[in-house]
Amino acid sequence: MDEERDTAAATPPTTDPVREGLDILAGAVERYRPVKVFALFSGGHDSLCSTHLASRSPRFDGCVHIDTGIGIEQTRAFVRDTCERHGWPLREYRPPMSYEEIVLRWGFPGPAGHSLVYGRLKERCLRQLVRENKSGRRDRVLLVSGIRRQESRRRMGYVEPVQADGARVWVAPLLNWSHEDKHAYLDAHRLPRNPVVEKLCMSGECLCGAFARKGELDEIAFWYPEAAARIRALEARAAEAGVPCRWGQPPDTAKRTAPAPTVGLCWSCGIKKAGEDDG
Ligand code: SF4
Repeated sequence: MDEERDTAAATPPTTDPVREGLDILAGAVERYRPVKVFALFSGGHDSLCSTHLASRSPRFDGCVHIDTGIGIEQTRAFVRDTCERHGWPLREYRPPMSYEEIVLRWGFPGPAGHSLVYGRLKERCLRQLVRENKSGRRDRVLLVSGIRRQESRRRMGYVEPVQADGARVWVAPLLNWSHEDKHAYLDAHRLPRNPVVEKLCMSGECLCGAFARKGELDEIAFWYPEAAARIRALEARAAEAGVPCRWGQPPDTAKRTAPAPTVGLCWSCGIKKAGEDDG
C-alpha cells in the first residue's frame, strides 16, 4: 500500500495556534508512527517556525535542506548557522542533475516547465531522503513543512494539515496560523529572522525562475548581485546553446496556464505567482 494516498483532517478543537501546531504534529506521529520525523527547513520565516515547533517533538530527527544549486547563498548560510545554534542535525541534499545542466538542456523553465524542474531538483532529493530512512515496506517518513492556510486556501485551494502520500507523510503544523501568529512565535522564541527574507520577501534558497514575478531578477541583483550575475551568465550560455534563455520568462510556446504547486516544496512560489496573477 506504499503508493496509497490518504488524507487526515485532524484539526484539533483549540484556538491556541502553537498548541494546535504541536497537536497536529503529535497526532500525525501517533497515527502514522513514522520511522523518522524531519523538518523541511528552507530558511524562510514559515519554515523557521515549523522547524522550531518540530524540534519540540520528542520524535524530531533533524532538518532537511535541499540545495538545488541555484539560490541565495546567504540563505544557505542562515540555515546552517541556525541549525548549529540550536543543535539541530542538518541533512543537505543536492540533486544528481544540476540546475545549470537542466537549463542548458531544456532552457529556463516557465510555469509549464515547473514539473520537470521540480522533479529533477527536488523530487529526486526527497526520494533519496526516503530511501535512506525507510527499510520496511510500510515505513513512513514524516516531513514537516511551514505551509499556511491563510495564503494557500484563498489562492490555491484547500490543503489538509496531514497528508499521507505513500511513504511520505506531509505535516503542516502552521496550517491555521496567521501572519501575526508567525511573527509572534518568532518574537516569543527570540528567533533571528533570515535577512534575505526581510529584503526580498522570500527565502531565495531556490531560484528556478518558473514562477518568478515581474522584475524579480532586478530585485535580486540589487541585494544579491552575485546570485543575479550567476543567472545572467547562465542566460548567455543558454542563448549559445539555442534553448529558451531568459530567466523568469517562459518561452512564447509555453502554456501559461500550468497549475501552481499547492503542496510539497514549492508552495510558496506557487502563492507568489498566484498573487501576481490575482493582480
Ligand atoms: S518553483 Fe520555487 S521552490 Fe520550486 S523549484 Fe522553482 S524556485 Fe524552487
